Amino acid sequence: MGSEAGGGAAAIDLLRSAAPFLPDADLLLTPGTGLVLVDLVNGFCTVGAGNLAPVTPNKQIEKMVEESTRLAKVFCQRNWPVFAFLDTHHPDKPEPPFPPHCIIGSGEENFVPALEWLENDPNVTMRRKDCIDGYLASFEKDGSNVFSEWVAKFQIKTVRDPSYLNVRWKKV
Ligand SMILES: [Zn+2]
Repeated sequence: MGSEAGGGAAAIDLLRSAAPFLPDADLLLTPGTGLVLVDLVNGFCTVGAGNLAPVTPNKQIEKMVEESTRLAKVFCQRNWPVFAFLDTHHPDKPEPPFPPHCIIGSGEENFVPALEWLENDPNVTMRRKDCIDGYLASFEKDGSNVFSEWVAKFQIKTVRDPSYLNVRWKKV
């Protein structure tokens, strides 16, 4: 993909060998299923929110947000684990070749309105990231990895990633 979407995809690639990946399958409501949400932030999904946001309403992005919201509700109602990557950048650390986006304090770095409630949901592990690779961005200074720990802690065997619906980066 070679795009922002690769962040979450890279993380999921790493899981593929250990866990079945079901991008197109119906949601299997079985224990051991984890939901991974990638960059459902205003800066990428809310019309007019920033340099990498859609400039006009976009059906595919709307569908992705809708599907993500639906799945997140199902997961949280069942107390099942949700992991959310949020693209977040310091203003003095650009991410070439992309124009400034998701700068801390701009609001672009926050969940889209439909998913704001996730911030306070105990089932959700949030990870702000400042690079396209969500897995790499999950490493702490001590070498531990928040994403790997999430997979291990909840014994995740299947990952659901609704961002496969997302084509927003094709315009970049
Ligand atoms: Zn970014």
